Amino acid sequence: ASIDDDGADSGRVRVAVRLCPKNAEDLSHESNFVDCVELYPELKRLKLRKNNWISESYKFDEVLSENASQRRVYEVVAKPVVESVLNGYNGTVMAYGQTGTGKTYTIGHLGKDDSSERGIMVRAMEEILSNTSPLMDTVSISYLQLYLESIQDLLAPGKPNISISEDSKSGEVSMTGAAIFQIRDIQHFLELLQIGEANRHAANTKLNTESSRSHAILMVQVKRPSRVHEGNDFSSLENTATADLPTILKSKLVVVDLAGSERIDKSGSEGHMLEEAKFINLSLTCLGKCINALAENSPHIPTRDSKLTRLLRDSFGGHARTSLVITVGPSGINYSETASTIMFGQRAM
Ligand code: ADP
Ligand code: MG
Repeated sequence: ASIDDDGADSGRVRVAVRLCPKNAEDLSHESNFVDCVELYPELKRLKLRKNNWISESYKFDEVLSENASQRRVYEVVAKPVVESVLNGYNGTVMAYGQTGTGKTYTIGHLGKDDSSERGIMVRAMEEILSNTSPLMDTVSISYLQLYLESIQDLLAPGKPNISISEDSKSGEVSMTGAAIFQIRDIQHFLELLQIGEANRHAANTKLNTESSRSHAILMVQVKRPSRVHEGNDFSSLENTATADLPTILKSKLVVVDLAGSERIDKSGSEGHMLEEAKFINLSLTCLGKCINALAENSPHIPTRDSKLTRLLRDSFGGHARTSLVITVGPSGINYSETASTIMFGQRAM
């Protein structure tokens, strides 16, 4: 990723809000609570509401109503990042929000029965595969879970000692010990995601935790010979001398289904639970700090303080693109969690 900027706002975090539909429980409370958000999608704004009080309006890069399709969500949230990855830059797409508001639906839905329901991971891979050549390029993945600052391999369960290492020269981050699968076609990828999902479930049963407590992380590595001869904007005349060098463009897309952002009640939780609360808050708090630093164009992004941010280190800031989808529910019963999710998103803008 040593090419000049391809966009004025790369480095900045793109933030979209997605409202999920009411679920059965929301509907059962309906008479007691007013909806806690009011959307103005054309204005890319929303307001928070509690009883008769209504907030100022908050602006985002995109405001997606409960009617927004998976395809549209992919196009506004992930597509610019995927395109940039295809051009040799690293990028990150993440979903942040309270449990039950549609993070996994948005990021990880496989759309087995209905391909229009496919989420960001599958659509991103479709786009990457259709823009690469199986003869010239390699597309490979690792699929990991991060729970209590420990990393599990969702494609090779039981693999011990996966660690994050950083090349001191290039700054490239890699997951030492993680299984890497070269993707043949979309069917192959869907099979791997499904295996990952089953392993995630099994691991969480064994650890006696909810999947909402862990982060699921898909890393996609794209390697392709530099297309210097094909008249890209960086093949100016003075570069023709370097055109004979066997340059390999290497880039990485990281897609993260984050742990639920809800505050865990620490009073009354002890031992394992307290430990859990502390660690989950640690990685999400660190992520928040990094995103704030990115938003403020700070030269220092404090990625060292948690594993989540350490493994995102080379996919954050600089030439890398980051896109965040903030998921919220409409029900007034969750007002305070929704408000805190919206504030997290605002601080990233
Ligand atoms: P989270 O991962 O944030 O805990 P989920 O993605 O599991 O939330 O969503 C909770 C439930 O709501 C799931 O059954 C999911 O299919 C459904 N859901 C969430 N968002 C949508 C949406 N935009 N359209 C249809 N169903 C949705
Ligand atoms: Mg989930």
